[in-house]
Amino acid sequence: MGTLLRGGSVVSGQGVCRGDVLLEGEKIAAVGENLPVGDANVVDCTGKLLFPGFIDGHTHFDLEVAGTITADDFATGSRAALRGGTTMVVDFAAPDKGETLAAGLERWRRKSEGKTACDYGFHMTIDDWNEGISRELGEMMDQGITSFKMYMTYPAMMIGEGDMYRALLRLKEVGGIAGVHCENDGVIRALVEDARAGGRMAPASHPRTRPAPLEAEAVGHLLRMAQLADVPVIIVHLSARESLEEVRAARRRGQRVYVETCPHYLLLEDSAYDNPDYLEAARFVCAPPLRKRADQEALWEALRGGEIDTVATDHCSFTLAQKRAGQYDFTRIPGGLPGVEHRGVLLYTYGVAAGRVTAADMCRVLSENPARLYGCWPRKGLIAPGSDGDIVVLDPASEGTISVDNHVQNVDYTPYEGWRTKCSIVQVYLRGNLAADRGQVLNPRGRFIPRGRCCL
Ligand code: MN
Repeated sequence: MGTLLRGGSVVSGQGVCRGDVLLEGEKIAAVGENLPVGDANVVDCTGKLLFPGFIDGHTHFDLEVAGTITADDFATGSRAALRGGTTMVVDFAAPDKGETLAAGLERWRRKSEGKTACDYGFHMTIDDWNEGISRELGEMMDQGITSFKMYMTYPAMMIGEGDMYRALLRLKEVGGIAGVHCENDGVIRALVEDARAGGRMAPASHPRTRPAPLEAEAVGHLLRMAQLADVPVIIVHLSARESLEEVRAARRRGQRVYVETCPHYLLLEDSAYDNPDYLEAARFVCAPPLRKRADQEALWEALRGGEIDTVATDHCSFTLAQKRAGQYDFTRIPGGLPGVEHRGVLLYTYGVAAGRVTAADMCRVLSENPARLYGCWPRKGLIAPGSDGDIVVLDPASEGTISVDNHVQNVDYTPYEGWRTKCSIVQVYLRGNLAADRGQVLNPRGRFIPRGRCCL
């Protein structure tokens, strides 16, 4: 017996049209107007928007950072994701320097297997470079791990320009794609030294030591290497207006560049770091840091114009007790914000309902593009026969408030405390089964999704 979602409006990257959706087994069996009921269980979706399950291409669950471990693991993080309409996450597996990629992958399998409620995949972090790792890139591809992460900042993760260039060439050979964290590490270190020498060690120094030009410079730097290697690349968590200029320049040269941003760069400002209350400021520490109002406007504009391909959360949650670690030294604050639960309602409320983007734009950046970018299209990312029955039923006529008092993320704050939402996520289906119902997460079993090549 299937489930017939009847009378809703089905959203795709092209637009919105009325239609019923029939789920059978794990798949979508049919989409169309006035589908016959048969023996299906009918769910009235009148007035609701039906989105393909959202895909969050950037999460960090159960990750050790600066001697502490993220508050959300795969169990709590995936349940929060589902509650917010995210039916698949792609988390970052990371070997330690000196380890094989296989060892890193094995560790991430142990962290996730049997406890992840939504579907999931892994990006593999390249934080070391040698012949073995070069060979392993092909093996990762065979196992459905087709996207890789490299860092231009954080000494523990950086491999340097020469090896980064070699890694890009090798990825081209095996058909993988790299997402890169772009910030100029050397200048950041100089600015941190200056702040330390001047005794300016409060969170207010965080954005001042990682200013926008240093992100843009690294974006440009990477894109010139990618030009030479003749490979597409992904700029992850792009936050600054200046960085968009570098992306545009590369695209004008004919390069393929994909851009991800995050809800916090669209919605929050760097003035948050100036709060004299340490914890009020420290809770917003992430890298790149929050930027200015003008950057937000530029990002919304780019989102509307199709220049930004996906919005992911970079969910990396730490409790306020964990954030205390940097009370006398902002460089010791574990970096990262929670957000995996709220991406959909935020984008709908402050994007679609506010008239900044359309529901189709939202579908593209949350569902369609990440599915294509990360090689799981058309299994994921669209509502069509044969695709997985991952559906978000969103009520645009319902209002709510984001709060630590009603979220299920395993963390004692949200950066969006008290923010009003102009929608609610009524039901979420994962591979044909009801996974979350009016905020109640049931007991779905997520599955590792082997991915193919980027097709965006
Ligand atoms: Mn990240």
